[in-house]
Amino acid sequence: MRAGIVGGGIIGLAIGAELLRRGADVTVYDPEPAGSGGAWHVAAGMLAPGGESVFEFPRLEQLLEAANALWPEFAAALGDVGYDDAGTLGVALTADDVAEMAREWKHQKLSPLTGSQLRDREPALSPRIRAGAYAATERQVDPRRVVARLREILSGRIRARLVSDLSGLDEDVVVVAAGCGTATLTGLPIRPVKGQVLRLRGEPGLLRHVIDGAADGRHVYLVPRADGEVVVGATQEERTDRQPTAGGVHDLLRAALDLVPGLSEHELAEVTVGHRPGTPDNAPIIGRLTDRVVVAAGHHRNGVLLTPITAQLVADLVLTGSADPIIDEFTPGRFGCA
Ligand SMILES: Cc1cc2nc3c(=O)[nH]c(=O)nc-3n(C[C@H](O)[C@H](O)[C@H](O)COP(=O)(O)OP(=O)(O)OC[C@H]3O[C@@H](n4cnc5c(N)ncnc54)[C@H](O)[C@@H]3O)c2cc1C
Repeated sequence: MRAGIVGGGIIGLAIGAELLRRGADVTVYDPEPAGSGGAWHVAAGMLAPGGESVFEFPRLEQLLEAANALWPEFAAALGDVGYDDAGTLGVALTADDVAEMAREWKHQKLSPLTGSQLRDREPALSPRIRAGAYAATERQVDPRRVVARLREILSGRIRARLVSDLSGLDEDVVVVAAGCGTATLTGLPIRPVKGQVLRLRGEPGLLRHVIDGAADGRHVYLVPRADGEVVVGATQEERTDRQPTAGGVHDLLRAALDLVPGLSEHELAEVTVGHRPGTPDNAPIIGRLTDRVVVAAGHHRNGVLLTPITAQLVADLVLTGSADPIIDEFTPGRFGCA
C-alpha cells in the first residue's frame, strides 16, 4: 500500500508514522518539511477533553475522551515529548468568574476547591483567587517535541511540496491532513480561527499544574513546562492575519499576572500567532471523501489531543477499509461532501 499524506503538521505526521508502523509505504508532502507554519507550533498542548466544545457537540466529548485515554501509551512510544500528568487546576478570580467556570466544573463532576485549598496545591496562585477545581485527567504535552519526534520517525519520507491538485499524486491512497489548507484542496468548510499565544521563561518550578482560569471575564490558560517555560494562551478571533496585537498580548498578560503574580519576573520570550482549523460545528472531519481520498482535518482547538486517535482511525480506514463506528459522526458527509 502506497500512501501519500498531504500536510506535515501534527495530524499528518502522526498518521504517516502510524501507517509506516503498520507496513505502508508512506510519503508526506509539506511546503516546509522543517518549518514552523502549522498550528502545532503555536499550540499550548493542553490535553483537555472537558473544554467548552463538548457543550456544543456531545458526541465530540466521547471522541476527546477516547483520545485522552490513548495519550499515555502514545507519548511513551514517542519518548520524552514533555507529556506531564500533574493535571489541571481550574481557577476563578471574581464571583462572576466563579459563576462562569462552575458550569464547566459541574459538567465534569469536579469537586470545588476554596482559594486556600488551591494555594496548598499551587502556592504561586494569587490570594485573590476565590474558587477552583482539580481535573486530574486534563494533562499536557509539548507539541513542538511531538512534531520533532514524528519528523525523526518519518525522516527521508517528507517531501518539500505544496500540493495544489490531489490528482497529481500517484499513491494508492491520499490522506488530506493539511489543517487550514484543506479547504482549498477539498472544498470542505474549514476556516482559520486566529489565536495569539505567549511564551514566558523563568526559573523552573513556579507552577506545577496547568492552570485554566478566568480573571475579570478574561479566559486564560497557563501551561508550565519542566524547563521553566510557561505557555500563556490564547485569544480566539475570526481573523486570517498573522499579526500579534497590543490588545491580545495585554489581555493575556493581564489575566496571567492577575492569577499568578510571580510571572511578572519572567522573560517575555515569544509572541506567536496561529490558526486553528475550525469547522461549522467545531468538530473534526475524519473520513473518506472519495474512493482514493481520506480527510483528517478541522481539529480546531483540540488537534493535539485528537492526534493519536485520528492516526489510529485513519490508519484503520486506509488499511482495512473500515474503522470504529465512533468515526461515523465526523465524516465529510455531514457537510454534504462525499
Ligand atoms: C493558539 C492555538 C492554541 C492551541 N492550543 C491547543 C491545545 O492546547 N491543545 C490542543 O489539543 N490543540 C490546540 N490547538 C489546536 C491544534 O494546534 C490544531 O488543531 C492542530 O495543530 C491541527 O493539526 P493539523 O496537522 O491538522 O494542522 P497544522 O498543525 O496547522 O499543520 C498543517 C500542515 O499542513 C501543511 N499544508 C497546508 N496546506 C498544504 C498543501 N496544500 N500541501 C501540502 N501541505 C500543506 C502546512 O504547511 C502545515 O505544516 C491550538 C491551536 C492554536 C492556533
